[in-house]
Amino acid sequence: MARSRPKALLIQLPIPPPGPQAIHGNIPLAAASLKLYARRRGLEERCPIELLPTGVTNDLGDRGLVEAILAREPSLVGLTCYVWNVERALAIAGWLKQARQELKVVLGGPEITIDNGWVLRHTAVDYAVIGEGEQTFAELLAATAGRGAGVEAAASIPGLWTPENPEPLPRMPLESLDAISSPYLEGILDVADERVMHLETLRGCTFRCKFCYYPKGYQRLHFLSAEKIAANLRHAAERGAREVVLLDPTINQRRDFAGFLRLLARHNPDQQLSYFGELRAEGITPKLARLLREANFSEVEVGLQSLDPRTQALMGRKVNLQALERGARAMRDEGITVRIDLILGLPGDTAASVRRGIEYLHRSGISTAIQVFNLSVLPGTAFRREAASLGLRYQARPPYYVLGTPTLTLEAIYALMEEAQDAFGREFDPAPAPVLDFAEGGQRPVRVARVELEDPQPSLPPPERRAHVFTLSLRSGDFDARRHAAAGLVRQLLADNPHTTLQVVLEPAAGPEGLSTRAFELLLEACYSSTSYLDLFYSLHPNRLLGAKRLVVLLPVEDRARLGPAWVDEAGRYATLVWHGGPLDENDLAPHEHVVPLDTSGEVR
Ligand code: SF4
Repeated sequence: MARSRPKALLIQLPIPPPGPQAIHGNIPLAAASLKLYARRRGLEERCPIELLPTGVTNDLGDRGLVEAILAREPSLVGLTCYVWNVERALAIAGWLKQARQELKVVLGGPEITIDNGWVLRHTAVDYAVIGEGEQTFAELLAATAGRGAGVEAAASIPGLWTPENPEPLPRMPLESLDAISSPYLEGILDVADERVMHLETLRGCTFRCKFCYYPKGYQRLHFLSAEKIAANLRHAAERGAREVVLLDPTINQRRDFAGFLRLLARHNPDQQLSYFGELRAEGITPKLARLLREANFSEVEVGLQSLDPRTQALMGRKVNLQALERGARAMRDEGITVRIDLILGLPGDTAASVRRGIEYLHRSGISTAIQVFNLSVLPGTAFRREAASLGLRYQARPPYYVLGTPTLTLEAIYALMEEAQDAFGREFDPAPAPVLDFAEGGQRPVRVARVELEDPQPSLPPPERRAHVFTLSLRSGDFDARRHAAAGLVRQLLADNPHTTLQVVLEPAAGPEGLSTRAFELLLEACYSSTSYLDLFYSLHPNRLLGAKRLVVLLPVEDRARLGPAWVDEAGRYATLVWHGGPLDENDLAPHEHVVPLDTSGEVR
C-alpha cells in the first residue's frame, strides 16, 4: 500500500473555561515556534505543518475535536501539554489512535518531564519532547518524514523520549531566540486575532525557586536580539495590537533592564501597546519604575509567596522584604497595577506564618491586586523530587495541589484561602455568571440542548457536534419524578465528552416544589460521574459548587419571596439560582443568586 504523504498537525487545547463565556488567550505560540523553526530548515516541504485553528480548538467538545483532527488527515499529531490541558490531550490522543492506529502522537510542553510517568506511560504516546522543543521536533520530522525513515531513526534524538528510549540525552537550548522569531512576522500567527501579542524575549532563569518548572534545562539566559524585539513590536502596532504579554520568566533578570525598557518605550511612542510581565520587585528603583510606566506597563506580577524565612529557605527563594516593598511602592506610585502572589501550602509555612503574609499584604498596601494560589507540586520541579523528604502530599493528577504538609493540614489550607478572600474582600477565581441566552438554529458547534423531560424519547445533538462548553436545559413539571431520566442525560453527555464544561439548567414548569433534594443530589452525582481538570482545580476552593459542572435553577422572581430564605439557602447548596423577570436589588442576593430580565417575547435574555 502506498505510504500517504506525511503531514503534522499541532494543537494547543485551551484552559478549560469555567462557564459559557468566550475563550480568549489560547495563543499557540509554542506550536507556531515549532513550525517556524522547521520551516527555516526546509522541513515543511517534506512534511507540511498545520496548526489547528484556535476557533476550532477552543469551541469543539472532545469528540468534535477528534473528528476535526481526523478530517485533516495528519500522519503526526503534536499536542502542547500544560497542567490545564494534559488530561484532555491524552484522552484525545487515545481516541485518535483508536480511530487510526498508524497515526503518530508527539507531546511537548511543561507537563512532559521524565518524572511524569502517568503521562509518558499513556499508550497513545509515541514520542514526547523533554525540554525545549524546536530542535527536537525538527529532528523528529527529519527522521520520520523521509523515505524509509521511522521510529528507529528517532530513537537517538536528544530530548526525544520514546518507549524504546525512555532516557534520552539532554537537549541543549537554542543559542539565540532569533532562530524562532517570530511566528507573527512570518504570518503563522496573527496579532489581529485577539489584538494581543505573546512575546518571548528571553529564556532561562537565574533563580531556582523549587516550586517552579522553569529553571530546569537552562544554565544561562538566552535572548531575543534588540532588532527582533523592535521588529515584533512594530508589527504588533501595525496589526492593531493593544497588549504585549512578555512571557519571559522575570523580565528584570537581564543586566541592562533599563535599556530593555527604553527599547520597549521607543517602539511604543503613542502608547498604543500596554505591556504585562513578571518581575522581581526587589530590584525596581524609582527610575526603573518610571521607565516601566514610560514604556506603558499596565500591570506587573510579583511573587512574594511567603513571608516566613524558613519557608523561603525551603523554596529556594529568599525575599528581601524591604527592597520588595520599596520596588512595589515605586511601581504603584507610577500608576502600575502591582499584582502580588502568595502561595498556600508551602513546606515550612504554618497557619500563623501564612496569616502573617495575608495581614502584611493587607496592611502594607503595597499591592493593587493580590492573588493567592494553592501550591502545585509540579512535575519536573525540585519540590516534586523532594516531596517525600519534605512531607508533601499532593493530588496525583493536575493541578497536583498539595493536600497537606507536616505543618499544614488540608483543613487549614481551605480555611486560609477563606481567610485570604475575606481579608482582601474578593473571591479568587470566581465562577462567572450563568449564561442562558443562546442564538437558536444552525449553530456549529451546538451549545445548548433543550429537553422536555416529559418527552418519552428525548434526544441530544450528536457528540461530535457539541461545543466544549455545553448547556443542557431541562424542563419538567416534576423533576423529582423525572430525576433518573435527567441524570441519565447528564451521564450521557459526560460519557461522550468527559471534559465538557457543563451547565445544567432546570426549569420547573409547575413551580419549584418538584425540585426535591434527592433530585438535586442525583443530578450532582451524575455531574461528578467523571471529573476533569476544572473539577480538581476548584476542589480546594472554599466557595461552594465550583467545578466544571453546574446546576442552575431558573425561576420567576415572584417565587423568591414565597419560597423564603431557608429554601433559597438550601437550594443554593446544590445549584445557582437565577430569578427571571426582575427587578431585584443585587445587594439582597446571595453569591449563588443572579437575576436576568425577560425580553418582550417573554423569553429569558
Ligand atoms: S518562579 Fe520565576 S524567578 Fe523563580 S525560578 Fe521560576 S521563573 Fe525564575
